[in-house]
Amino acid sequence: MPSTLEDLLKMLRRNQGNNRLAVFPVFQKNRSAYDLDLIRLAYDYAENAHRGQSRKSGEPYIIHPLETAITLAQMGMDQATIIAALLHDVPEDTNYSLVDVEKNFGSEVAILVGGITKLGVIKYRGMEKYAENLRRMFISMAQDIRIILIKMADRLHNLKTLDALLPEKQQRIARESLEIYAPIANRLGMGFIKGELEDLAFPYVFPKDYQWMQQEIMPQIKIQMAYIDKIIKLVEHELHQEKIKIVSIHGRAKRLFSLFQKLKRPQYNGDVSKIYDLVALRIIVPTVTDCYSTLGVIHHLWKPVPNRIKDYIAQPKPNGYQSLHSTVFCLEGKIVEFQIRTPQMHEQAEYGIAAHWHYKETNKNPKKLQEKGYNLPKKLKWIEELVAWQKEIQDNEQYLDTLTIDFFKNRIFAFTPRGDVIDLPEEATAVDFAYHVHTWIGDHCTGAKVNGAMASCDTILKSGDVIEIITDKNRKSPSRDWLRFVKTQAAKGKIRSKLLK
Ligand code: MN
Repeated sequence: MPSTLEDLLKMLRRNQGNNRLAVFPVFQKNRSAYDLDLIRLAYDYAENAHRGQSRKSGEPYIIHPLETAITLAQMGMDQATIIAALLHDVPEDTNYSLVDVEKNFGSEVAILVGGITKLGVIKYRGMEKYAENLRRMFISMAQDIRIILIKMADRLHNLKTLDALLPEKQQRIARESLEIYAPIANRLGMGFIKGELEDLAFPYVFPKDYQWMQQEIMPQIKIQMAYIDKIIKLVEHELHQEKIKIVSIHGRAKRLFSLFQKLKRPQYNGDVSKIYDLVALRIIVPTVTDCYSTLGVIHHLWKPVPNRIKDYIAQPKPNGYQSLHSTVFCLEGKIVEFQIRTPQMHEQAEYGIAAHWHYKETNKNPKKLQEKGYNLPKKLKWIEELVAWQKEIQDNEQYLDTLTIDFFKNRIFAFTPRGDVIDLPEEATAVDFAYHVHTWIGDHCTGAKVNGAMASCDTILKSGDVIEIITDKNRKSPSRDWLRFVKTQAAKGKIRSKLLK
């Protein structure tokens, strides 16, 4: 019998005839908080529901939810998240409904599974100007942050199996991952997920550039790696002399897509020799004090490049990232970037918000946590991050007229037939939608098609509805009656001003 969640999921995966497993470096601890019987039950339920279905790759369908659950387990997510991941495609793709899921696994799991299904309506159709809108929609429709994490793990596996899909679908999913998913992962501080999403999508979206990177840049990364290995030996020796314990010391090659983006900037112009963090030397030490001591040792060995010391421990990045960075004139006159952090900072940098669940269950002493480099205040960090994001969006004047403070709650999102997202207050009607799209369309609105079916002007819209406004160019003015049901100030104002003319 498997005794840990990890073992159980691995065993289930092996039973499905494939033992290829991604191994996450950080979350390998036993987690007593899981009810393995219940998780096994959820697996059996999903397996039964999906029986007979296969993925486009030919694999049994259950592999997909199982891989999704494994990713989340390795991120240290809680039990409800693991179960919801196993069940995440059940209501949409099988004969079992969300009500069935709730009956069997309770409301918490059902809320998560229902959330995944809802997010399924968001599709990026390649118009950059709507990308930020879609990201906001994504966040606000997911009322529980765990829904976003499941969606990320779901997307990771879909990208890994993208080969089996038709080119058109490959493009949409890969672009959507770059434009919507990766920026959200980044905003939530999940460096590992962001990097994986980008590097998996890269060859599909920019095949030529990807090939160029493979052929021209990869060899240089390898050379730099070998050089860094020499430095590691030296640093190890010095830190040992100073009695600083090393948790890990390794060369970190920059992610391919992020390197590609950096190379495109005018100041680099494709010249990889100007990029100092092509391979950075990363040192993980037990405490914050050790971080500063280590930096001292490095600077004693090699002169720092002026203005390149960054103390993200004292001043974390907006997404919570913490580390000390310094670039030095190193051996053979080469320039090398060092990144120094504690294991907890590392965990946060890689898993961001997801690290919170890990932290919540394994550590209780805030003083100790701070010394280890956990930068989580009493309030949940991710709430602050979302609030910061909200502010950032509000600062962008483009959205000022449509935003209200409570946009996380009382907003709905509807689509134009082209897939553009229109966000409106709850209970907004077809007329509100029409005025939001264009004043002329509002003034000449005679009805709407909601998801293909004819509907009246006062129809209340729901998130995910596709709305086509029917107009009549001979219509002289809007109806005074509309003022009784429209919800947005914009529509009210425009109707009044037109009626006054
Ligand atoms: Mn899925």
